Amino acid sequence: MSFRFENKVWLSSPTMHGEEIKYVQEAYATNWMSTVGANINEVERLAAEKVGCKYAVALSCGTAALHLCTRLAGERLYGRAKPGQGSLMGHKVFCSDMTFAATLNSVAYENGEAVFIDTERDTWNMDPASLELAFQQFPDVKLVVMAHLYGTPGKCDEIRKICNAHGALLVEDAAESFGATYKGVQTGMFGDYAAISFNGNKIITGSSGGMFLTNSKEDADKVRKWSTQSREPFPWYEHEEIGYNYRMSNVIAGVVRGQFPHLEEHIAQKRAIYERYKEGFKGLPVSMNPFDAANSVPNFWLSCMLINREAIAADGACEPGKTTPAAVLQAITDMNAEGRPIWKPMHMQPMYKNHPFVSAPIASSSQNVIASEAKQSIADVGADIFARGLCLPSDNKMTPEQQDAIIETIKECFA
Ligand SMILES: *Cc1c(COP(=O)(O)O)cnc(C)c1O
Repeated sequence: MSFRFENKVWLSSPTMHGEEIKYVQEAYATNWMSTVGANINEVERLAAEKVGCKYAVALSCGTAALHLCTRLAGERLYGRAKPGQGSLMGHKVFCSDMTFAATLNSVAYENGEAVFIDTERDTWNMDPASLELAFQQFPDVKLVVMAHLYGTPGKCDEIRKICNAHGALLVEDAAESFGATYKGVQTGMFGDYAAISFNGNKIITGSSGGMFLTNSKEDADKVRKWSTQSREPFPWYEHEEIGYNYRMSNVIAGVVRGQFPHLEEHIAQKRAIYERYKEGFKGLPVSMNPFDAANSVPNFWLSCMLINREAIAADGACEPGKTTPAAVLQAITDMNAEGRPIWKPMHMQPMYKNHPFVSAPIASSSQNVIASEAKQSIADVGADIFARGLCLPSDNKMTPEQQDAIIETIKECFA
């Protein structure tokens, strides 16, 4: 294969529209070049309005927002954190397994011990059956941290119900899923505490940035205070608790503000990309990253594909009709486009190798699986998706012609 794009087609890169620079310039012209200003106020208002919550607090990144979620949860459960000791010290926390490391870092920052919950096949998110099993095994656990992978909402109702039944709090990592809905409600509304991200590769971006979402004025005030070094209202610097420098800059907020009017447009573009892949792969032994079409509308942030088990070539072998994720990724790289392996499950990561991993037999969780999957009963679903899946170029600036060329290249991998 000799075809190469002149300009690289990215996995998911920032897409600017012009309004961003106007708000950045406004910040400059009025000298609000700090962590206070009109852009910050406005993006907080816009985020709360979009998600449908009462308060949004603008922070330096999604990871910071998640960290303050876990601290709020930890302090509510176990009392105020002492200096040098996180609020989750000595406590286990149930966490999504197939997610980005930031989800887990927010638990580690508070000294919690992550217990990984396996993934279900219907949406590639936390498996309710495995979560229920985990509560049987570790009945003292009081906190669950769930992510919505690749912009696809997880099984929010089922997870929430299990949390309620066991008196546990829920932190929702909606970093990748801003704008996605579950039963008509925006992700970020299901957790006791929730975070979104404006990182450069997300559905809209400020180059960086994140947001804490809540209906509680008390929590919003606490997060605002913690994010600005926990200053007490005194003339001098007075501190009763640990603080952070986590507030969003008014310059970054200008970029986010300019992106907001384009959120739905980005989602529509990403959806078209997902559907074009799905159509283009007809006849190939693959499926797309699945979602619960009856109950949810993803933001389609990343399109992924999963190679059927029978079409996986043996290591290093070249068999007709078969390939591997590594071979497909190489072919994508060779044409100057960017794919990526599936986020490697956390229980497979060296730093978490001694942490518990809970996986229920798959039969108990899946109804919407495709026929060839239904017969499988492999326990470690995350490892299986990691072994057979990959993230496809999903940039919203990719043209249909470019995408068709990528689809052709992938087809050739199965020749
Ligand atoms: C991007 C991401 C984060 C972190 O957001 P940042 O703004 O990059 O700190 C957290 N969780 C998930 C699942 C993410 O994809």
